[in-house]
Amino acid sequence: MRFLRIVVCLSCIGLTFGCEAKPGATSKVSPAESFQASFTQAVSATQKIRDALADGKPDAAHDELHDIGHLLQELPSLAKAAAIDSATSESVEKTAKGLFDVIDKVDAALHDGKEIKYDDVKEGLESGLADLKKLAESLKK
Ligand SMILES: [Zn+2]
Repeated sequence: MRFLRIVVCLSCIGLTFGCEAKPGATSKVSPAESFQASFTQAVSATQKIRDALADGKPDAAHDELHDIGHLLQELPSLAKAAAIDSATSESVEKTAKGLFDVIDKVDAALHDGKEIKYDDVKEGLESGLADLKKLAESLKK
């Protein structure tokens, strides 16, 4: 038993260290690259969610809803780490927040077993996606 407990404790320490490691500390990906990658991922996930909703099958994009929820919450801090200029950072934060509210609404509806229509979220989703794409373009420059 004692041996087991030690093993468990050691793996706890390992986990704690793993969690506390700063993003990018162990990988060779630069903050700018990881920001770009997350951004691209956010755009494609939003497109998939939009398409699924337009098809009347929001459940088909349930995984993406969760993925993008995390992504959108991370984007502002990733932007800061990547030293994006403050005006762009602000747009990123605003866009991420607005889109997150829409995503959250769709996810909540799915969990509550409520029907969610594309028209209910179309405006927020489309404008969020358009803003994401615009930002993605400006980040490439
Ligand atoms: Zn969900």
